[in-house]
Amino acid sequence: MGATLPSLPVIVGTGLTGCSISRSLARAGVRHLLVGPAVEGDGARLGESLNLEGSLDIVDYFPELSDGYLAKTAVIAHVGEKRVRCDLNMKRGAASALFYRALGYREPPDAFLHVDRKGFDAAVFGSVVADPHCEHVDALVEGVDYDREGDRIRRLRLSDGREVVPIAVFDATNHVRAVARHLGLGLELLGPAQRSVYGHYEHAGAHSCDDSLWHATHVVRLGRAEDGVDGLAWYIPLKGVASIGVGVDRAEGGGEDELGDVELMRRVVAAIERRGIIPEGAFAPPPELRTIPHYRHFLHSRAFGRNWMLAGGTFCVMWFAASAGISSGFTAANVAPHFIREPEVFGPAYERLLRGLRAPHGVFEWLRRSDPVATDVAELERRADVLVAQSVLRLAESVAMLPGRSRRAVAGAIAGAIRGDHFDASGICVRARELPREDAVDERLATLRQVLDVFAGERPLAAIDACIADDVLVHIDRLSFRGVQGWKKWAMHSRSTWPFDAIRFEIVEHSYDAGRDQLTVHVEAVVRERGADGERRSSAERFVYRFDGARVCEIWTSRHNYGFLYGPSFTTLPGFVAHIGRVLLWNLRRRPEEADERAAAE
Ligand SMILES: Cc1cc2nc3c(=O)[nH]c(=O)nc-3n(C[C@H](O)[C@H](O)[C@H](O)COP(=O)(O)OP(=O)(O)OC[C@H]3O[C@@H](n4cnc5c(N)ncnc54)[C@H](O)[C@@H]3O)c2cc1C
Repeated sequence: MGATLPSLPVIVGTGLTGCSISRSLARAGVRHLLVGPAVEGDGARLGESLNLEGSLDIVDYFPELSDGYLAKTAVIAHVGEKRVRCDLNMKRGAASALFYRALGYREPPDAFLHVDRKGFDAAVFGSVVADPHCEHVDALVEGVDYDREGDRIRRLRLSDGREVVPIAVFDATNHVRAVARHLGLGLELLGPAQRSVYGHYEHAGAHSCDDSLWHATHVVRLGRAEDGVDGLAWYIPLKGVASIGVGVDRAEGGGEDELGDVELMRRVVAAIERRGIIPEGAFAPPPELRTIPHYRHFLHSRAFGRNWMLAGGTFCVMWFAASAGISSGFTAANVAPHFIREPEVFGPAYERLLRGLRAPHGVFEWLRRSDPVATDVAELERRADVLVAQSVLRLAESVAMLPGRSRRAVAGAIAGAIRGDHFDASGICVRARELPREDAVDERLATLRQVLDVFAGERPLAAIDACIADDVLVHIDRLSFRGVQGWKKWAMHSRSTWPFDAIRFEIVEHSYDAGRDQLTVHVEAVVRERGADGERRSSAERFVYRFDGARVCEIWTSRHNYGFLYGPSFTTLPGFVAHIGRVLLWNLRRRPEEADERAAAE
């Protein structure tokens, strides 16, 4: 028998899951062993696109590595010709700020995150092993002495000949299942075996952070007829490079198995270009492609025992597009210190949470097996909404299972409301909707002209309801207002009080970003002052309008855009606040229809 290591909690696996558990135990003041090879070098791992929980947790766990976190504004799913977009903006106003604060996340990121994993895992490893609570053991677990009766792991045998009698064991070896495979657990396989090929593609031209290339993750259902590949592909933009890859079924001869890695990826990139996700030739092929020739999606029959837990990807591996791999590791880390003390309380809660990942997995399994041509957009939107609701539910449930009375109570109430279908998760982070085609720009411009006509008094105020969403978010410099009522009050006051005989607005320049469904316009106001002969024209001012369906859902403008209409004092903060006060007072004394009646009379 070899030397025995101190009897402590043992984390097996030095990947992101193992290191997150290590940090969690260290923060709780728990000494532990971290067993596995040292993580060194640049080697980029998969797991670059994070879901809601993962985005919140990674910032919380590893704030020192924030240079590697990149906010994305959307995930866009492509099926045949159809596209559905989920907005991932987490700062949607006061309600969402309150939501995250109530759950204990004081500084949520602006949006879901991409992580540049190049060198990231080595940095995480270096950081956690520097903590005095962590003792790193550079060895592999080779043997497990499991007491089936008592459901306890008695002893672990390591490749360096040493042994450890663990207080608790966290198996974080992912698909290797270094401990799990000695426990005689059931393993449910989900769907056919997969092969994955991927690489980091370097951008060939100049790029800026504002470029729409860099802000959205795309998931593409490839079809054999149109793309020459039957599979599910991803495009994840990082800094200056994009992670592009694909998962295809292992067909044991035939199908995509006939294609070599290079040809497979050539077809994937062509398919991504054809859909307009990236311009042709924008990215150079990587010097080497990486491949996982054979892997399975699976779920173990149990996630924990008396003194052991299958952490994150060791318990279950789901479709990559669910972005649940990394977050499931954080779920294990969040619960780890409590699990050591009370496995019978925290084990079942942890297992329930991870079993919930079947829902997003099911959405992507459906997407992968759907017919790209026949798939209905409404069904796609519905499934995307399931993803959103489930993600917020998992977040609330994971907070609800941790100690801390008030957080638990709030999280429990939120989880209950989502389960009972009384909670609109889209107010918190994500909204799924069909994306318009590039030629939607004409429709968007027409809507905007109507908005400007209403503002000028050319159309009745009520016409705005078809153009602007009830809960529109308006940003004026750093201030934000929600609701079309505010817009109406402003318009009524303006129409009734400005000193012009005539006013009209002209859009002199525009650009349209179909990926964001966002119209940027430069508008000039043309006025004839009371009693004056000629017209006066303002300079061209910039406004940005984002659409949701046929209506505007978000507007960005600036006080400086209105100096021409309301006078120079409006462009100062005190002048602006005074103006708002006048608008509110004026509206208190009037009915909304008045402005229309007056306009009609004139
Ligand atoms: C194609 C594909 C795309 C993906 N995309 C995403 C994504 O976009 N977002 C996302 O969240 N997830 C994604 N994932 C999942 C994600 O990659 C994994 O969930 C995540 O990397 C798992 O991290 P981990 O630390 O659990 O495991 P790993 O990083 O695999 O680490 C396991 C560790 O265990 C160690 N080990 C192995 N055997 C032993 C042993 N016997 N003893 C001791 N140590 C051992 C290894 O050395 C390694 O350090 C994707 C997966 C695939 C296959």
